[in-house]
Amino acid sequence: MERRTVSGDAGSARDTARGAGRGTSRPVRTCVGCRQRAAASELLRFVAIAIDSDLPRSPDIGGSRAVRVVPDPTRRAPGRGAHLHPIPACLALAEKRRAFGRALRVAGVCDITPLSEAIHGGKARLTGS
Ligand SMILES: [Zn+2]
Repeated sequence: MERRTVSGDAGSARDTARGAGRGTSRPVRTCVGCRQRAAASELLRFVAIAIDSDLPRSPDIGGSRAVRVVPDPTRRAPGRGAHLHPIPACLALAEKRRAFGRALRVAGVCDITPLSEAIHGGKARLTGS
């Protein structure tokens, strides 16, 4: 119907525009707030950490235990992580739709204070080019 294949002129030019020659496959992640896909480098990774950390580390973070959601700017923290645009709007969206618990597979309470403070305080400003 409306879907037309443009043949001829646009084809080869578009391939070049998509950076085919670069050979870099950039990882793409989904923001848990606005659900938009973006390059991982544009998103802030965060992970869930069990609050009662004096217990031996339990893989069963998905229990009813409360967890703390902390930013992981270096993206090296172990455990299950998810991604978010480091802006208040996406934080609010994610919070509203309870996306944190779902993304991190946490059934209990998510304390997103550390993540929230990082974003609102501008500390989550991504460094780099
Ligand atoms: Zn977003």
